[in-house]
This record gives sequence, structure tokens and C-alpha cells, in this order.
Amino acid sequence: MKTEEQNQCPEFPHFGAIYPDARCIDGYLWDLDKFEDGKLYGGGEDPCPFCNTEEYIENHLDKDSDPPVTRERILEYIQKLRDRYDTPNKPNMNAENQVPRRIRLDLNTPAELAIYNAMQEVEKVGADVRLTDCVIMLSKAKDLLSDYVDEKLKGEES
Ligand SMILES: [Zn+2]
Repeated sequence: MKTEEQNQCPEFPHFGAIYPDARCIDGYLWDLDKFEDGKLYGGGEDPCPFCNTEEYIENHLDKDSDPPVTRERILEYIQKLRDRYDTPNKPNMNAENQVPRRIRLDLNTPAELAIYNAMQEVEKVGADVRLTDCVIMLSKAKDLLSDYVDEKLKGEES
């Protein structure tokens, strides 16, 4: 039963991609984009927020930052991740429904696509730590926008 429990942790964006790029193995996260010869070779150091919550919180607590990163904020973030990426095994769920709207470019709004395109363009500029930072910031901006769009869509449904 242990293996099944491990597989229940959702995959989510963690290593800088806008799509879920992290998979939990035995409580630690592995980079799904680093896959060669049938196995993952990147990661294994960051604790999984879902099943290794205490260690994850310990690693991320930062009382000196502004605003401070408190236990509550980290737990809130984990809950957000769970809400967004946890796709329980529902047999009648088709593959399309399991992909969050924000990852489906065909369902993205023009504003979301504009940020996505900006990320693509920045990636084309070259390889540099500043460019990577830039892409991560854009990815965060897109997430914020998607949060807003998702909220609006939810409101329209009900
Ligand atoms: Zn896990």
C-alpha cells in the first residue's frame, strides 16, 4: 500500500515550469523535465509539500522576509496547490478535464497568452540566470492572472 500512497501526491510546477514539473518520490520532489534512460536524474532534495509537509514548512519558513513567510502562509500555499493540482482518481474523468485550464493554451485568455508568449521570447534570448529569473517572474505573473481568470469563470458557473 505504501507505493499507492506515494503516487497520490499531485504533480505541480516546482522547478520553474508553468506546467506541473515535479513528482514526489518517497517524500522528495524530482524534476520531470530531467528524464533520461528511463529514470529521473534531477531533484530528490526538496521535500514534498503534501506528504512531507513538516520538512517543507521548515525549509520555507522565513520570518525576516517582507512580508514574513509564516507557517500559516505556507499551509495556505500548500492548500492552493492541492486545490489546483490534486486530481483524485475518478474513473469517469476524461483526460481533458484533468488538465487545468491555465495549462491548456487553447483555453487561455489573450492576456494569459501574451504573458506566455513573452516567456517564450525571453527563453529564446539565451541562457542566463537573469533570463531564468525573468521567466520565473513572468510565470508568477501569469499564475496571478490565471487565478483571477479562474475565479471569474467560477463565478460565472454558479
Ligand atoms: Zn509526496
